[in-house]
Amino acid sequence: MRWVSVLLLLLTLTCAGEPAHWDGLIEHAPSTKEQADGLSARLNQAYAAEVQRLGGPPWWLDSVRSHCQENLKAAGEHSEAPPLSQAGRRFIADYALEQQRLARLQGRYPSEIRWTREETVGWEMPDRSFQLTFDDGPKAGISQAILASLRQYRYPATFFVLGKRLAEAGDKRPDYSGFVVASHSHDHANLVQLSPADLSAEFSHTEKQAQRSGLKLARLFRAPYGSRAQRELTLMKKLGLRSTLWNVDSQDWQADMQTRPGRIASRTLALMLLHRHGIVLMHDVQPQTPAELARLLPVIPRLGFRISP
Ligand SMILES: [Zn+2]
Repeated sequence: MRWVSVLLLLLTLTCAGEPAHWDGLIEHAPSTKEQADGLSARLNQAYAAEVQRLGGPPWWLDSVRSHCQENLKAAGEHSEAPPLSQAGRRFIADYALEQQRLARLQGRYPSEIRWTREETVGWEMPDRSFQLTFDDGPKAGISQAILASLRQYRYPATFFVLGKRLAEAGDKRPDYSGFVVASHSHDHANLVQLSPADLSAEFSHTEKQAQRSGLKLARLFRAPYGSRAQRELTLMKKLGLRSTLWNVDSQDWQADMQTRPGRIASRTLALMLLHRHGIVLMHDVQPQTPAELARLLPVIPRLGFRISP
């Protein structure tokens, strides 16, 4: 029953359309802070207009409007910046549809785009600051490659691990020293559908496994699929855990994103330029993710962006 529901949730999210992408952006990324601000301003103008044209739940329209206004203020005028390319306009149109779909799922499935003040999404971070987060690991070969890239560029990151994957890794788990490790549940279940006992077990089993693996977990928690309701938030609070979501979704797990090298890095970069601050979500279980991260990381400093712990 549980798995059927999770499958339905995934089907709802995946069959509703392909994620927005912008092939080639990473190869033709802005080369200065000024160019980045110019493109950021164009993206925010286009996104604000597209979302108001599309329509959707009023809370979503309001939040997009206010974020775009803040971003335009931070980016500056940039009247000299070139207009958005056709690929950029298509990206914005597809991303607005993607987000409208998530906004309309609210009530049935809580997601990253509506949250409570008890949670962290990334909007509260300073302009140009981002956190990098990696979910669902550890996975042999992939987690280690990601950690090596991060160490090469001296970027901090947070790994939201699954208790079951830590158990599978045993003493071959990656060396996370210098990085934040936190819980993403034990089995990656859709928490809102669990019995109270199964829900507590998702937390306690991960804590116990982390101890066995010699890891100290940070007091953060990322709900699988971003799916959590008041019951889950109350439990997190009781356990001293802060619900941590994301606002820059790389969609690196989607088959369509994996068909072309650079597509995941380009989408992530486009969203960093659009949102200007926040939490980037990737997965250290997807075979393409290490190479996509290696494309993205060297571009970050020249845009004037910072990676925060
Ligand atoms: Zn996950």
